[in-house]
Amino acid sequence: MLPETVLTRARDEMLDWHGSGMSIMEVSHRGKLFLSVAEKAEQDLRDLLNIPDDYDVLFMQGGATLLFSLIPMNFAAGKVAQYIQTGSWSKKSIAAAGKLCSVEVVADSSGTGYDRAPAQDSWDTVPDSAYLHYCMNETIHGVEFPFVPQGMDCPLITDCSSTILSRPMPVNEFGLIYAGAQKNIGPAGLTLVIVRKDLLELCPDSIPDVLNLSKVAASDSMLNTPPTYSWYLAGLVFEWLKEQGGLEEMERRNRRKAQRLYAAIDGSDFYKNPVQLDSRSLMNIPFILADSSLDAEFVRQAEEAGLSGLKGHRSVGGMRASIYNAMPEAGIEALVSFMAEFERNSA
Ligand SMILES: *Cc1c(COP(=O)(O)O)cnc(C)c1O
Repeated sequence: MLPETVLTRARDEMLDWHGSGMSIMEVSHRGKLFLSVAEKAEQDLRDLLNIPDDYDVLFMQGGATLLFSLIPMNFAAGKVAQYIQTGSWSKKSIAAAGKLCSVEVVADSSGTGYDRAPAQDSWDTVPDSAYLHYCMNETIHGVEFPFVPQGMDCPLITDCSSTILSRPMPVNEFGLIYAGAQKNIGPAGLTLVIVRKDLLELCPDSIPDVLNLSKVAASDSMLNTPPTYSWYLAGLVFEWLKEQGGLEEMERRNRRKAQRLYAAIDGSDFYKNPVQLDSRSLMNIPFILADSSLDAEFVRQAEEAGLSGLKGHRSVGGMRASIYNAMPEAGIEALVSFMAEFERNSA
């Protein structure tokens, strides 16, 4: 979802951006008009996340999936990299890294069906690694880390695609943070990378420039034409977040929304969320029906009631409610009422 006020503003500015007589899609990415949009978006993001000056912010393409490969390529060639496996997305990042460096999986919750963020004291860490990578929120399994790893002897890297901007986070404790924009920021096509500048000195000159994060940073993310319209829309979302009261306020709302839905699931024998209490996601809430033969009917009737996108990911089945920032509390109320009614009607 995108906030409706963002969509109406984009509509209103579509044909004539701020009196320029042109759409923002029609101007040069190197011209004054677009540069003002780009700079404002970066500054607003820096304000929202409190990003320190010794970090660069990159507006890239290729999705989080490209970063799965760029990270080992830029930081781990010929070295060992540590990974935590907590679900489908971290598993994919591990497979991608395995082609480019030596991978050490130091914790893996697949044995318990990806139902938790493994406690740090259970990790089998190794010394002298290039970095430790984890997925802060597993979008498909609905598993979110309730803690930031502490006391590591290597940079921390995290895939924040489905949790960035849902709450404040200590950027200064990370070496690199990345996120595809399409979950909790704006439209697809844009990938955000927040990286500590000293790490960029490690990027090997041997890799192609467009894949080299230090080259992308040195060109202010304009080594080639960036996804300008996605960048512009992300900027509108950042402005909207500031108007709402910033990330502390988003966290309050997101916690209320998630608690309401988890309470409805836990309060019934008809629905179940398989994730351990301390690792439950604020953004993606999977649930299964006690009788899975009703899944398709649930999704069909929900769709009829105006509740769309509830089918679980094809790899895990069941249902999943993705309740990103732009989902209003009324949307949760509508879902909870529908769930209660469906349960009554199925009795
Ligand atoms: C969606 C998602 C991805 C993949 O993002 P793309 O932009 O499609 O490459 C990676 N990681 C997580 C956590 C995701 O939710």
